[in-house]
Order: sequence, then structure tokens, then C-alpha cells
Amino acid sequence: MTALAIIMSYEGVAQSLQKPNVIIILTDDQGYVDVGFNGSTEIPTPNIDRIAANGTVFSSGYVSYAVCGPSRAGLLTGRYQDRFGFGKNPLFAPNDSTMGLDRAEQTLADYLKQANYTTSIIGKWHLGAHPSLRPNERGFDEFFGFLSGGHDYFPENLVFEDEYAVKRNFDAYRTKLLRNHQRVEETEYLTDAFSREALSFIERNQDNPFFLYLAYNAPHAPMQATEKYLKRFTHISNEKRRTYAAMISAVDDGVGAMLDLLEKLKLEENTLVFFLSDNGGPPENTDNSPLRGYKGSFFEGGVRVPFAAQWKGTIPESCQYEHPVISLDIYGTVAALIGLETKNELDGVNLLPYLKGENMDVPHEALYWRNFNAGRFAIRTAQDKMTTEPDNQFLFDIRHDVSEKNNLAPANIGKMNELNQKIEAWKDLLKDPVFMGLMEDKAYSELHPDRFERKIENK
Ligand code: CA
Repeated sequence: MTALAIIMSYEGVAQSLQKPNVIIILTDDQGYVDVGFNGSTEIPTPNIDRIAANGTVFSSGYVSYAVCGPSRAGLLTGRYQDRFGFGKNPLFAPNDSTMGLDRAEQTLADYLKQANYTTSIIGKWHLGAHPSLRPNERGFDEFFGFLSGGHDYFPENLVFEDEYAVKRNFDAYRTKLLRNHQRVEETEYLTDAFSREALSFIERNQDNPFFLYLAYNAPHAPMQATEKYLKRFTHISNEKRRTYAAMISAVDDGVGAMLDLLEKLKLEENTLVFFLSDNGGPPENTDNSPLRGYKGSFFEGGVRVPFAAQWKGTIPESCQYEHPVISLDIYGTVAALIGLETKNELDGVNLLPYLKGENMDVPHEALYWRNFNAGRFAIRTAQDKMTTEPDNQFLFDIRHDVSEKNNLAPANIGKMNELNQKIEAWKDLLKDPVFMGLMEDKAYSELHPDRFERKIENK
């Protein structure tokens, strides 16, 4: 080894010693404009907005799918979830070891464990209810929350003792919460309980590097809020919209308490915080304007989400970043900071050089989406957005037509072909879905009549 190589390798080691705490705050089904930093005045979010003021808003921030499960699989692996067959929203199936995140995948928690982080998930998992697929088996030291795709918020509604008391998919919304492998008796409104646990985790780990994945299920259905939050929204007459607003406000209070704690513990310059929603807002109750479409769609309203990041002293403050980025970049950014090799090839990239202005190029040549059942694909480049499905093709000049109103497809066959070639190349990386999805609930239960029978003893 030459002297220069030794110096470089030493610098590489020094770089790898930078271990900021990592916090991902994920909301569920929050509309693009239902956050103050994207312009909401109807639903003030003064605390979530502090992340934007302390850092950078991604105005073209995407997730890798338009509904919960696959989006979360992408987020936690840094990879397009179709690479490993997670093309559908999983069913609640506690006896099925294939119903969830492939064990060959390395989660961000697995990765950070190797760098001696203490890791915690608080909130919604939705990546497998089988014992081999649960958070404590997927790199998380601590888990407080639930396994299913959604959950009731009022503690008195949590009447099912465990996953085997469930008789239908959506019964899982009313199971008691888990602390690691133990069921617990919760007494608080769910969002407040998750915020409480987040503060406790940070307090306990203030002296070690930590990773907190705070996956609030708010404001996902069912629409349930307490009077404390509802009374802030007497100006909203539609009752469901008012409840949805109150649910976001509860998250906002939790985020505020957490940011206050980071400040008090002097951790702000050593903590990278991301805030985003797992998909766009659904048609009921939410506001994705000016975007077209909703949760489930590959129009922007399904996949472009409220998204911001702060890291005081590193990420520029009060900035907006306009080039397309994706939730997969969270893993990409963290992996670049830690410097350890990842088990699998990431699709996410390190955003820091772009945010700091060291790289003026676009982070991604293209972003991609696939809805396997619908035969629908989408691609976003710096200039264009194309969506194709068996009976429809859409091409938009997305920078100037963010609402996807003016379909340029008929007159631009050449460009369509060019974008289709990129999609074809991307498809070669993908696997067909490995499990049946939420839309196949009935068929799955018929194939698996013992779906909710106690086959496996709890730990
Ligand atoms: Ca969702």
C-alpha cells in the first residue's frame, strides 16, 4: 500500500466514524398539501414545519408505491420492492412465512445494527406477521406497535388478545399492541402512545448512536381522534375531514415534543431526521392538490408525498430541493455516511452532495413504479412523467404540468418509445409478487382455511 493509499484509507475510516442518529418519521396516507410546509392553512402543522425550517423540503419527493406495504418495503430496504417480489399490499396472515418482507433482504435496521446502532420501530410494521418476519427478527432491538396494515386508535377498541383471536383480516386493527413479543395493555390514544414511546427511546439512547423508525399510522383510517385535537378544527365542517385534521395535529404535537427533546439533549447536529408520508392521500378526507390522483394511483397524487429532512449544520436550512428524490434515498444516504457495504444493491442514492450543492446534477436518471395486477408502469425523469397501462398511455411535461392535465402521449411516440425502453430494462430486475395481496383476501382465506388458527406458540 502506498502512503497516499494509506492516508486515503485512513480518511475513509474517519468518514465511517460519522454516526449521526437517524430518525424516520413516517405518516400514513397524508395528502401532499395537508402539511404546513406544502402550503396547508386549514391544517396547521407548526412542528412538522420546523423540520422544513431546520432543513430542506423535497418538493418532488416520491415513494416507491402508492399504497402502504410495498412503499414501506422499499423504504426499509432502499430497493424497489418489486426486486424481491413485494408487489402487493400484504394480508394479515400470522402463519404464513412468505407473507411479508423476504428474509434475504437487509433492512436499514439490520444494516445499522452492524454499525452498533440501537434500533427501534414504533408504530405500524405491515411487513409480515409471521414470527420470522416481525421487527425483532428484522434488525430492530425494540418494537412497540402493531403488525397489521392499520389500527384502531382508541385503547378501549383493542379487544383482541393476540393475532389468533382475529377471525378476519381487518380484525387485526383491534388487537392489543405489542412490546417486542409481549402484548400490552395500552391506555392512551394510539398516536400519543407512539409519541410517548419515541421520547422514551431517545432519552434512553441519547449517548449511543440510534435509529428510530417512528411509523405513525395516523392519519390512515379509521378516522378516530380525541377531543383535545378535534377542538382545534372547529373551522372544518366536514366531520371526517375534521377528524383527519385532528389526527395529523396529534402527530404534529408528537413531532414537536421530539424536536424539543433533541434540542434539549443537544442532539440536533448529530441527528438526521426525515419526515414523509408512505403514499398519497386517499380520495376521502385528504387534499393532494395541485396533484392529480390519490392513494393507489401512479398519478402524482398517489406517489408524490410530503417529504422533508433536517440535519442541523449539514443539510441547508429553509431550503427547497426540486429534483426528484425517492424514499429509497434515505437508506442510500445513511449507507454513504456509515460506509459499510450493503448486502444487496441499493436503488437509493446519497442525497447529501445534492442538498449541499456539491453535485448540481439530478440524483436519478429516472424513477420507476410498477403495479403488477394492473399491468401499470410509471417513469419519472427530470423532464417527463409517463404512465402506461394496457388501455391507456399518459405523457406529461411534469415540470410545467404538475397537475398532469395535458396528455402529450398521442403526439410524442418517439419519446414514449425512449421511456418505454428504460422501463423494459428496469423490468428485467423485477420478480413477480411472491404473496397474494389485500385485494385477494377472500381467495387467500379459501386457500388457507387455517389462516388464523394458532399454529405457532408465541415467544
Ligand atoms: Ca399508507
